[in-house]
Amino acid sequence: MMKMCPLCNSEMPTRYNYCFQCGEFVGMTGSIQAETPPEDEAKHQLQERVIHYGCLTLIVVWTVFGLWFCVNMNR
Ligand SMILES: [Zn+2]
Repeated sequence: MMKMCPLCNSEMPTRYNYCFQCGEFVGMTGSIQAETPPEDEAKHQLQERVIHYGCLTLIVVWTVFGLWFCVNMNR
């Protein structure tokens, strides 16, 4: 990720708060704070998916076990 200095138009990494060319303040420009790293976002989504399918699997297993138990008790 790169951003431009408004004074001298030199590019620098977004983590820089001050331009290394002219010393102009370039941090906290709104878009930087709203940004979330795509890696973290993907990791978060994966975790949610794992939890979601984990719960679903548990419910299905318990339902099947319950049905199996009922069928065997009534025999
Ligand atoms: Zn600059």
